[in-house]
Amino acid sequence: MYADLHLHSNFSDGTYTPEELAGHAKRCGLKAMALTDHDTMEGCPRLAAACQAQGIEFVPGTELTTEYNAVELHLLGYLLDAYHPRLQEELVKFQAVRRQRVYQMVERLNGLEIPIQAEAVFALANCRSPGRPHVARALVQGGWCSSLDEAFERFLKKSRPAWVPKFKIGAAAAIALIHDAGGLAVMAHPGLNHTDEIIPELVAAGLDGLECFHSKHSTTITQRYLEIADHHRLLVSGGSDCHGMSKGKPLIGSVKIPYECVERLREKALQRAVEAGLLLANRSARKS
Ligand code: AMP
Ligand code: FE
Ligand code: FE
Ligand code: ZN
Repeated sequence: MYADLHLHSNFSDGTYTPEELAGHAKRCGLKAMALTDHDTMEGCPRLAAACQAQGIEFVPGTELTTEYNAVELHLLGYLLDAYHPRLQEELVKFQAVRRQRVYQMVERLNGLEIPIQAEAVFALANCRSPGRPHVARALVQGGWCSSLDEAFERFLKKSRPAWVPKFKIGAAAAIALIHDAGGLAVMAHPGLNHTDEIIPELVAAGLDGLECFHSKHSTTITQRYLEIADHHRLLVSGGSDCHGMSKGKPLIGSVKIPYECVERLREKALQRAVEAGLLLANRSARKS
């Protein structure tokens, strides 16, 4: 019984629709799957319905772009309420920033004699959370680059000529936001961040878990994060980080984590909800 808790759909920079993702998950024999699109939860209702049709357990989620000490850090939120008003408000802000950034990247490309248009990128992205992968796809489609990797290497990677920094919410504020929406905050792919020294600080800020299993983590790296998670009593999560066909072959099913991890996540979210309920009850009891 396995789960994949890191998946992107075409509601951000994945290429599969939620229904296609659920179909792949079924063929991989997954018992549970999460949707973790960048800065949006818009695909969750559709994947929830598709999972129900396939008999797969659905875990709502998102992957927030955050920063800590000026270093970019991706935080996964799990089991949060997609309709939570403040969360929705913040996600709309992040999406506006992403849109603005596409205009800036296009402007820089135009300055490099690449007559790409922002509207073409938006049409291709066809979602509210556009990003660099969509600009990369437009560069490939227009014949300016032969692959997505080339587009990132030549133009879009940090410090390359069309790279534009992105506003990011602070990691501690993102953890609080995820908690507010009833969810759990998990540090994504720590093996790619090289920021292990900040893990204790994020634990103090309320971090709930570590993504120990990831398609870019070697067995040694996974083991290292399992030990760190154990040391800080953090929940263990993981997934393939599949973006559909955008990176050559679909990664879904390449990283399967034990289903127990999902049960532990649900237990903690429930425990937190109960505690919040008790706190509210105590507060109103004190008032009366
Ligand atoms: P953004 O959120 O707009 O900064 O874009 C970051 C996303 O770009 C990541 O989530 C990856 O999906 C994708 N990405 C990063 N590097 C590459 C690459 N070399 N080739 C294709 N996609 C990439
Ligand atoms: Fe991505
Ligand atoms: Fe990420
Ligand atoms: Zn991701």
